[in-house]
Amino acid sequence: MKKILLTGGLGYIGSHICVELINKRYEVIIIDNLSNSSKNSLDGIKKITGYKPKLYISDLRDKLSLLRIFKENKIESVIHLAGFKSVNESIEAPLSYYNNNINGTITLLEVMDQFDCKSIVFSSSATVYASSNEMPISESAPLAASSPYGSSKLVIERMLQDLCSSDDDWRISILRYFNPAGAHKSGLIGEAPNGSPNNLFPYISKVAIGDLEKLKIFGNDYKTQDGTGVRDYIHVVDLAKGHCKALEFMQDNKKIIVVNLGTGNGFSVLEVVKEFEKACNKKIMYEFSERRGGDLDKCYADPSLALKLLNWKAKLSLNAMCRDTWNWEKKK
Ligand code: NAD
Ligand code: UDP
Repeated sequence: MKKILLTGGLGYIGSHICVELINKRYEVIIIDNLSNSSKNSLDGIKKITGYKPKLYISDLRDKLSLLRIFKENKIESVIHLAGFKSVNESIEAPLSYYNNNINGTITLLEVMDQFDCKSIVFSSSATVYASSNEMPISESAPLAASSPYGSSKLVIERMLQDLCSSDDDWRISILRYFNPAGAHKSGLIGEAPNGSPNNLFPYISKVAIGDLEKLKIFGNDYKTQDGTGVRDYIHVVDLAKGHCKALEFMQDNKKIIVVNLGTGNGFSVLEVVKEFEKACNKKIMYEFSERRGGDLDKCYADPSLALKLLNWKAKLSLNAMCRDTWNWEKKK
């Protein structure tokens, strides 16, 4: 069995990737410092797959501990998700974001290099694209980060490009995610943000369950179908499957690829609210409020390169994202 190191593997996206990797018969080793997750994800993974991956509770920046992990396990490839991910938080605490995201990645790449493990899939984000881009966005569109979080992703992308130019043996997949949503259909793993959620899906979900009173819709005067912001929501299980496809691609190709993972469809906030109401059979209370600083009117992917290179295409609908988010919320 091929051994894959999954950094941040207990988190929202990582736990779903873990399930897909196990389904594909990879042996998964997780490193996570629990800064935004808990060991409960491991129980969910075990219940879904019948298998409990090896877990190292450790910080990626702890080089000695990372060296030990590579010594103890013959790791073939790394899927690197560990990092902080909130745009707003990064504006308040830029140093902590640069430190965690960039230093974590440098430490990881140094240890990988030392152990001659030169294959990595990296979680990037649509936030690296310049706000002036035409939709849909293709991978060649101009880049410009508008937050320290986005800058940290851009720096890492650049670092990976430079590494690849310096040594032909590296195989690198940079995956730019659009808006992950939903949960595993079992309801055993899903998104469990600490504190009050910032993102749309977890927020609506908390309103539906009664923990929060109403959704604030940030802006209803955008140039979109109904005035509310439009995004490319992608089911987290589709996203997870994209990582397996990237691993397969890297087996036969020594180079760097940069690929969007999105559906190519844009849905407005009001469309999501309507679909969620159908899924939970409840009314979602909402009010319109001011636009949120830094938000774009619309953002959706051109996903054609993923189909061409990875033979990957998102299959699950907005309805499935709402149904699975609600199922997870009820079972939590
Ligand atoms: P998450 O917070 O649920 O998962 C990240 C995991 O990494 C957590 O379990 C956390 O404890 C761990 N972690 C953080 N810093 C660490 C460190 N220094 N050492 C060890 N573990 C550490 O986030 P997620 O939504 O699963 O996102 C995973 C990745 O995907 C992130 O890199 C994020 O930037 C990227 N991404 C996420 C989204 C999204 O909307 N969720 C969109 C685009 C890109
Ligand atoms: N949004 C909203 N209310 C919320 C959270 C989000 O109206 O409480 C809107 C937001 O303005 C954007 C869309 O929902 O148009 C998706 O926002 P999210 O934070 O989930 O993702 P991102 O901003 O990263 O695309």
